[in-house]
Amino acid sequence: MQGLMQNWPLRVSSIIDHAARYHGGREIVTRSLEGPIHRYTYTDLRRRAKRFASASSQLDLRPGDRVGTLAWNTYRHLETWYGLMGAGLVCHTLNPRLFRDQLAYIARHARDRYLLLDVGFVELAEELQDACPEIRGFVLLTDRAHMPATRLRGAVCYEELVEAGDPDFEWVPVDENAAAGLCYTSGTTGNPKGVAYSHRSNVLHALAVNGGDALGLRCTDSVLPVVPLYHANAWALAFSAPMAGAKLVLPGDRLDGQSLYELIEAEQVDFTAAVPTVWLALLEYLERERLRLSSLRRVVIGGSAVPQVMLEKFERDYGVEVVHGWGMTEMSPLGTLATLKPELLDAEPEERLRTKLKQGRPIFSVDMKIVDDAGKELPWDGESFGHLWVRGPGVVDSYLGGEGGRILDDEGFFHTGDVATIDAQGYMHITDRSKDVIKSGGEWISSIELENAAVGHPDVAEAAVIGVAHAKWDERPLLIAVPREGRSPDPRDLLDFLRGKVAKWWLPDAVVFVDEIPHTATGKIQKQALRERFEEFRLPEDSGD
Ligand code: AMP
Repeated sequence: MQGLMQNWPLRVSSIIDHAARYHGGREIVTRSLEGPIHRYTYTDLRRRAKRFASASSQLDLRPGDRVGTLAWNTYRHLETWYGLMGAGLVCHTLNPRLFRDQLAYIARHARDRYLLLDVGFVELAEELQDACPEIRGFVLLTDRAHMPATRLRGAVCYEELVEAGDPDFEWVPVDENAAAGLCYTSGTTGNPKGVAYSHRSNVLHALAVNGGDALGLRCTDSVLPVVPLYHANAWALAFSAPMAGAKLVLPGDRLDGQSLYELIEAEQVDFTAAVPTVWLALLEYLERERLRLSSLRRVVIGGSAVPQVMLEKFERDYGVEVVHGWGMTEMSPLGTLATLKPELLDAEPEERLRTKLKQGRPIFSVDMKIVDDAGKELPWDGESFGHLWVRGPGVVDSYLGGEGGRILDDEGFFHTGDVATIDAQGYMHITDRSKDVIKSGGEWISSIELENAAVGHPDVAEAAVIGVAHAKWDERPLLIAVPREGRSPDPRDLLDFLRGKVAKWWLPDAVVFVDEIPHTATGKIQKQALRERFEEFRLPEDSGD
């Protein structure tokens, strides 16, 4: 017997319809690139997204065509998401922090037909256009008054397009499995690969993310997505916040500590999300200026592991709850969140802290397993670590263009490339990316744990640990650290500090101080670049014994 319920297609347009119909007056506040704060509502956003969607026919675009965006988090960028997806087009967010050649590769590979961009990226786009002949034209996300002189072919002013568009445009009724968004993996090795989110996967993922025990956004929240719209599907916030009717606060291009603090206070933000480096800057600013946070209640931190000192500062010094999250571009992107189960609520503070520092347990719609090198499943004892695999309706099935061939195992699990433990309560803890793990005498040393312990030292701003060749042990850890401004810590002192915090045989064999640690375009430490830089580094012969 079939169920007798309505077959309501899961399309992204229903999210913005819902927001405009039931939370129409709720605000979207942007620190505009031109300077002033811009305010309007979900009703306005939907109307303008419809105008833009109707105007896309003037651009000679057909459903399924890809349109790239090179833009910061602003109301205009968000409008283009809903406008493009509502017109049956595929919104392809490009990360402007990538190298030009990588961007050109991605835009060509995706066969982007148009590129929408902030005025600040005109020069970058001018360089791209020669390498990407398939891009027919460029739309500048600004008004007539701010249109720059440019040699971009067919450059159009976004506001003029929107003005000419039809506010009553009917969303294109695409199949719920049609592609809505496209995002390339950061590709630290090999070429970046395209992950095509469908309308259905986006709606299901936003519903899962809004579960009460997940991020559970509410219409009373004021949400600041510092995570860029171009990073990993914006951690689902572009869908989950409107779905809940939450106020949205968009930071534009000013992501420094002071600008974020001012926006949080002015807009009474109670929920925000970003990678650890962003929070490092905010915490430093708060400490330096001796400021308090009056409204912030929860901060979601992911993309890299949360250092213990960061979690403690937020929770103890500022009364802000930290939610550690893990995910990937290939997972829409949220996989796990470290929220506490009932049995942990009354646990000793130590145990609660240990759990909150893990990457967390899966949200509904994500299933995971860890396996050894031979593919055998490992127990969930919090000790055995192995390769982490995941599956679910928001997990990639194959990369765009079939790159990389078949990427699922026989049970439909996708290999994350992370190495992790899972404990008896289902909390997953990442010890490393598989290619970063340090193999010493046949045993594995977690570079992430060493890094987190090292940044607990009061004179250390940032730390990275890599494996370097060792005659006896194959590899031993080298700690590379950036001192805090005005401090010059002693390597021996740093090693003493680590003693007792990690297993004795994990202690790095050497410490070097550097001015800066290189980061990827999404804020992760570039281990490969460090390995190349320290390729010639020689450890003392008797180290590691
Ligand atoms: P991306 O697709 O750029 O979001 O990168 C995904 C990868 O980032 C994951 O496979 C992990 O290696 C890493 N990652 C994300 N969140 C965390 C976290 N909370 N702790 C450690 N690594 C993380």
